[in-house]
Amino acid sequence: MRGKHVILCCSHFRREVESLNIFEAYRHVQVMFFPARCGHPPIAWEELRATMLGAMEYDYVDVLSGSYCLTGVNTYADILKPFHIHGGRQCFHLIANPELVEHYNMKGRYTVTPGWLSHWRQVINSWGFDRLTAQQYFSESSTGILLLDTGVDTNADHNLQEFSDFIDRPYETVSVGLGFLDIFVTNVILQRIVEARNERYGSVEKNQKTLSHYAMALDLLRSLTKVQSENDVIQQITDIFTMLFAPQKVSLSLSEPTASPAENQIIRKDNGFILPISSSGKLLGMLEIIGVKFPEYMENYLNLALGMVDICGMAINNARHYQTIKDMAYTDGLTGISNRRTFDEHLELEWKRMSREGENLSVILCDVDYFKRYNDTYGHQAGDDCLRQVAKVLSSNCKRPGDIAARYGGEEFVLLLSDTPTDGAFFLAERIRQSIEKLCIPHADSLVNSCITLSLGVACCVPTYDLLPQTLVSSADHALYEAKSTGRNRTVVKENI
Ligand code: GH3
Ligand code: MG
Ligand code: MG
Repeated sequence: MRGKHVILCCSHFRREVESLNIFEAYRHVQVMFFPARCGHPPIAWEELRATMLGAMEYDYVDVLSGSYCLTGVNTYADILKPFHIHGGRQCFHLIANPELVEHYNMKGRYTVTPGWLSHWRQVINSWGFDRLTAQQYFSESSTGILLLDTGVDTNADHNLQEFSDFIDRPYETVSVGLGFLDIFVTNVILQRIVEARNERYGSVEKNQKTLSHYAMALDLLRSLTKVQSENDVIQQITDIFTMLFAPQKVSLSLSEPTASPAENQIIRKDNGFILPISSSGKLLGMLEIIGVKFPEYMENYLNLALGMVDICGMAINNARHYQTIKDMAYTDGLTGISNRRTFDEHLELEWKRMSREGENLSVILCDVDYFKRYNDTYGHQAGDDCLRQVAKVLSSNCKRPGDIAARYGGEEFVLLLSDTPTDGAFFLAERIRQSIEKLCIPHADSLVNSCITLSLGVACCVPTYDLLPQTLVSSADHALYEAKSTGRNRTVVKENI
């Protein structure tokens, strides 16, 4: 039993929502879009109602928007009972994991979506800003722009670049795709289906078991959207089916990416069944449920499980996607080794660990000699290749657990070596310097050598709680400066930090 269901969505997400194919399966749902103004001024109840004038009759209304963009949100619920606003205070929670959004919020990023970017000029105008005041506003209120890219607008990158130039702030993009929104909207729809069933059959005894199963399944499925690692998702899916059917065995085995569609069918087996889990037409794995406790409910179980596997598939995909985003955030795009953020976090941790253990912590900072000349002579592309080769040498020299090599910025790299005294760090620095020399990357315009060379600065200390980890890096920087000023292609050690 399905009640007629209207979903009112902010026009900023029109493309995204229209790209979801879930509505094929839920034809009782009508999606309508209200104007996007991002709270300037907020959308009033009358406007939402006007949007719905053309709607079919409805039993339920759900609004997908940030509550910040709506006025008198609390009063809506009284006017129309089956009415709910999703999306939290900010609408980004519709398309991305809350932790991800929060992470960038904390970093002071001004977050935008492809829909918002598509008419950023009008938005800035509507705020009454000209270029200068906009630059002032964004420089005071944000550290940069973050685009949560859902991938539906091919102009998004271009718009982002224009907007970033206009307000003179840097930008970065996180590709979130449609997975999160897909699960979100599916949950909203399923929730209403359960409500409709409850209303219709509420008092009928024989349906109680199915209904409570549905309600429980929904609650559990909703929690899947918050899970981030693939292993946790698999664990949680296994738990959900264990709780629902109390079987002897539940297992979820993931398929090879090339698994044949022939496997894509339901198999009944030993008071249970095997179901394919797929997403976007790709088989992800097989869910095996064997020996359910109440086989008389088998058809119900199977039905329920069939309704759930799509969400499970989306959750697995979503977790994979999240992992990729996370990996991207911690590695340097050019060289593939760790980036500065990873180094900073590692330094913080190792500083504390070495303070506790009273052991040495060493840092090696290195910088390619006359690299500007290299770029000028051989071109930027060759420069990039050279940096990749240097990075490779550094990471292959960083073998102990707890050691890390990272790109510090431009043509500067850094190594963090736990439990390593000065001579150990100096020895490693020299080995790296010689390995780079041996690469013999021609550098005709260098003033120290005919090949690419490195200058290195080493600093070491036993960390204490009253010293800042950054002190160690500054010391290594001083040593590096000395290596440069005393002739380059050498290692200098700073004995006392
Ligand atoms: P020094 O020996 O004193 O270190 O001289 P330098 O030319 O290496 O130092 P400087 O800091 O003046 O120049 C660094 C150059 O590194 C500037 C820039 O052209 C180049 N560079 C920085 N990042 C990249 C990058 O990602 N790719 C390429 N190809 N070049 C980069
Ligand atoms: Mg430099
Ligand atoms: Mg340099």
